Amino acid sequence: MDYALNPYLGCEHGCLYCYGPGVLHAETSTWRVVRVKRNIPERLARELPAVDGIIGIGTVTDPYQYAESRFRLTLRCLEVLHRRDREIHLHTKSDLVARDAGLLASIRGVVGVTVTTLDDRVSRMTEPGAPLPRDRLSAMAALHDAGVSVYALVAPVMSTLEGHEAELLDAIRDTGVRTVYYNPLHFRNVDPTRMMRMGISGSDTARSALEGGGRSRGLDIRHVFKP
Ligand code: SF4
Repeated sequence: MDYALNPYLGCEHGCLYCYGPGVLHAETSTWRVVRVKRNIPERLARELPAVDGIIGIGTVTDPYQYAESRFRLTLRCLEVLHRRDREIHLHTKSDLVARDAGLLASIRGVVGVTVTTLDDRVSRMTEPGAPLPRDRLSAMAALHDAGVSVYALVAPVMSTLEGHEAELLDAIRDTGVRTVYYNPLHFRNVDPTRMMRMGISGSDTARSALEGGGRSRGLDIRHVFKP
């Protein structure tokens, strides 16, 4: 990714492990208050001729959080990028992305969907405002079926995944997606207090099981983001 495009500032998903506030030096306590960049499609159209490279969408906030269903800024930015034939790398934790499957299939680039667990209870604990895992898996399948180049991101790999790695990999494979990235839990730019209070940590055991299980299932499994 050469550029970062974030139509919203702040994120309603409220993940415990979010590095967004740390990166942007924003207050964690108000991160779920979302600011809407209403004129971003127009600014993008104006500034795009001067830039060249891959546009990362949703680098510090989710481009398909609930605000998008009302404001449709990500969709309008995608339309601009499509008209200019720009390459994108979009990432989300929301099934709303499936709404734009047709458009995304006609844009150069890749789309990633995060899924860290299949357990609704764990998801509600760690990603309280995000759509449930089964909805994200359905969105992955819809994107894949539409012809979008999709990958699953298991990040961060938490201790809550221990013993459930195979189940998660099977669920991902059932969507048709064959590329899986993972990333260990690290606390750079993250306040670890709440996770530690819940007894959640990173897990080398789960990482190894993901790697081994991914390979044995014929998945392209990679550790891509270095802490
Ligand atoms: S979805 Fe991403 S940006 Fe939003 S709170 Fe979770 S980790 Fe942060």
